[in-house]
Amino acid sequence: MSIIKLQDLYFKPYINKEEIALIVKHLAIQVKAELPKDEIPIFVGILNGCFLFAADFIREFNGNCEVSFVKLASYNGTSSIENVKQLVGINEDLTNRTIIILEDIIDTGNTLQEIYNIFRHKNLKQLKVATLFFKPDVFRKELPINYIGKSIEDKFIVGYGLDYNGLGRNYPAIYQLSTKPNMKNIVLFGPPGAGKGTQAEFLKDMYNLVHISTGDVFRFNIKNQTELGLLAKKYMDEGNLVPDQVTINMLKAEVEKNADANGFIFDGFPRTKSQAEALDAFLAEKGEQINGMIALEVAEDELKIRLAERAKTSGRPDDADPAIIQNRINTYNLETAPVKVFYEKQNKYSGVNGVGSIKDITQRIAKVFNTL
Ligand code: AMP
Repeated sequence: MSIIKLQDLYFKPYINKEEIALIVKHLAIQVKAELPKDEIPIFVGILNGCFLFAADFIREFNGNCEVSFVKLASYNGTSSIENVKQLVGINEDLTNRTIIILEDIIDTGNTLQEIYNIFRHKNLKQLKVATLFFKPDVFRKELPINYIGKSIEDKFIVGYGLDYNGLGRNYPAIYQLSTKPNMKNIVLFGPPGAGKGTQAEFLKDMYNLVHISTGDVFRFNIKNQTELGLLAKKYMDEGNLVPDQVTINMLKAEVEKNADANGFIFDGFPRTKSQAEALDAFLAEKGEQINGMIALEVAEDELKIRLAERAKTSGRPDDADPAIIQNRINTYNLETAPVKVFYEKQNKYSGVNGVGSIKDITQRIAKVFNTL
């Protein structure tokens, strides 16, 4: 999950779909447990926001029930309107029936007040209210709420049926209003020997960014014989990937060390799809995102020539042996290349020809960079 933009506003991931499913299931079980055995309730959803919640809730309810909907004016922009009006009512005879209101969110309680007003005169057996989300800090009424899925802080949310100016209802998770991202974060991508490290050195100065090369961080740890270095060495010397969780934790620590950065050039990370997902989630928590992936494209034969040349001076054990170089290229094709698809799906991928003079390639990258 990464941050989303709806019109002029940015929203960061807040409650994922798995958690929502658990909350809804739990609510349905609670409601069911408190109903007399043969009671057939009428669930009344408050449109529009409740449509996904109501659909999921009713499927989790596991019993005979009727379903209806009412529509009330609710939000305009991000602040509640004082006067809530009923737009579409219920036509069924509700005499002596159990009504359970399904609300997506209760904040000030204005809508809830309106609901109580409408149903008070209908000779019900009982009226209960179940809400998916509740904002205790802004609730100003003395009205009962029988079932609360989750209490949340008073920040504007969208997704899972809830909208901002009509948008955002389609997202399966809940997002919270966030500030505009202010970092520029680039993934510099490509197979071993593509020139990522060389180019990153120029780009970080041109754009005042922090360059994080996971390979360099591992080598620094090996040189200093840290625990992390000892662990990573056996994978690196064979040309295999260091396990995801180790690498992800290390990357996060490197980012945290540079909290004031304008942004980052990630070089050699992410190298697997799960690293890419972890990076997205990690940045999204901060209200930040990856702006783009720039991939250096170099043919395999050229890579082998470059790495063999580099071996003369790099002192890297993984450059020294053609079999290990081949394994690194194979690992790239098998595990790392799919990361490209991950960013393509987000429209963040740009390929750049990585063959030519260093200066020409820097200029090619800069051209893409300036559009991000
Ligand atoms: P590099 O300097 O980018 O060529 O990386 C050298 C070696 O470090 C790789 O062959 C891996 O063993 C390890 N490594 C660097 N980055 C990662 C990563 N993101 N995930 C797993 N292993 C990595």
